[in-house]
Amino acid sequence: MTQAGDQPEYQAGYQAGDRATSHDATLSYDRPVSQPPASAGTHGLTVGVLALQGDVREHVVALEALGATAVRVRRVEELDRCDALVLPGGESTTIARLARTFDLLGPLRERIAGGMPVLGTCAGMILLADRVLDGEPGQQTIGGLDVTVRRNAFGRQVDSFETDVTMSGLAEPVHAVFIRAPWVEEVGPGVEVLARAAGHAVAVRQGPLLATSFHPEVGGDLRVHRVFLDGVAALA
Ligand code: GLN
Repeated sequence: MTQAGDQPEYQAGYQAGDRATSHDATLSYDRPVSQPPASAGTHGLTVGVLALQGDVREHVVALEALGATAVRVRRVEELDRCDALVLPGGESTTIARLARTFDLLGPLRERIAGGMPVLGTCAGMILLADRVLDGEPGQQTIGGLDVTVRRNAFGRQVDSFETDVTMSGLAEPVHAVFIRAPWVEEVGPGVEVLARAAGHAVAVRQGPLLATSFHPEVGGDLRVHRVFLDGVAALA
């Protein structure tokens, strides 16, 4: 089993060989992207990144660039310090299994039920979803977001792709990186679809919960994190 801490954080979902050229170029932050200035409202916010597996570091970098204090969350005491949480991309089955092992599943559910804002990206979207199609047998989620997601919906790893998506609330399209990505197949009445790709919902919001099928943490475009943190600041 994959253990937290015994591997690079930036791992599953980005294995060597899967269209390395386009992904590497995107992941190395070498693409100039015009950045919004750090919002004054995000200073003083402590935002956790669930750090059991997946692309934790990229989220930490994005959050800190926007002026928040980022905390890697592996224990309930770390979760307790956070105003909000990011569930990163990676492998949803592994993250869910480790969350149970680390006794975080219950505390995470309680905080979400209590209104903690959460941004879930790719595997993080799956973890946030109340219902999963094409999951592993018995796959658990943290839940809270009233959607049904289809795991690996766009195909297998080799079918990962990048495309520009128009997202509600953002003036310019987002260059979105999809890696074995889920899509949202059904949404409950309180869920707003913010973006679509190939006709499928790929970004959704339900109150303080925001989820994207793609990886806003790669490529250096901070606008999705900015939208999330502005929402957190407005609630704080
Ligand atoms: N397919 C992965 C899962 O099921 C998600 C991939 C990703 O986060 N890039 O968890």
